[in-house]
Amino acid sequence: MTEPTCKHCGAVRMYRRGLCRSCYATPGVREQYPSGRVKLNFGPMCRHCQRAKINRPRGLCWCCYYRPDVRDLYPAAVVRGEGLQGDSVRDPEPTAALPGTEERLRILAERVARKESLFHSQDSRRG
Ligand SMILES: [Zn+2]
Ligand SMILES: [Zn+2]
Repeated sequence: MTEPTCKHCGAVRMYRRGLCRSCYATPGVREQYPSGRVKLNFGPMCRHCQRAKINRPRGLCWCCYYRPDVRDLYPAAVVRGEGLQGDSVRDPEPTAALPGTEERLRILAERVARKESLFHSQDSRRG
């Protein structure tokens, strides 16, 4: 291990964030060397796994949202399918693929791509 030196001016006396005291005290310099603990601006994380960014409704990430068992833990505020207004969401073809299967995921992805409603009342369901 080498003696830690100021990342900015090379002074041997390190103070914080790898900077010497005088560099650290200089805001313009300090900002160039953010500490390791800066707040990450990743936005809210998935309510379920807390590890992925929310990119699906209900505050879930893609993976969790498409796991029916997980999704059921976080009911949507709006009753799905019914009462949708406007023509932005179309009804998809019902699928026989069971929830949780790759086939079903593929179909959901296609529905997303076509801006269709993700669920159809005649989609096959488990149990
Ligand atoms: Zn320095
Ligand atoms: Zn998740």
